[in-house]
Amino acid sequence: MTSKREAIRPCRDCSESVHVSEEQVEEILHMMLTRRNRQLVDQETASRRLELCLACDAYHADAGGTCQYCGCLVAVKTRLEGEHCPDPRQPKWE
Ligand code: SF4
Repeated sequence: MTSKREAIRPCRDCSESVHVSEEQVEEILHMMLTRRNRQLVDQETASRRLELCLACDAYHADAGGTCQYCGCLVAVKTRLEGEHCPDPRQPKWE
């Protein structure tokens, strides 16, 4: 029998591929908007940000589509106001 602690897997730097569905992304966004009072950016801004993330070497598709520097899901991060690119070399979007 595994303990609850042993059953928890790390969400960053794990060795297995992780898939986050569009439905899960929408659920997370809904939670951010309703429970954390976050706001969405306009579609053009979100698309521009996402395009830059998808072309970035810090983007990890096999880790659920996360950013190496902040661990965020870029499908969520790129749609929220107040987010920024954390790349220490040169931020790709504000
Ligand atoms: S947030 Fe910045 S560093 Fe992270 S994946 Fe997107 S463009 Fe790359």
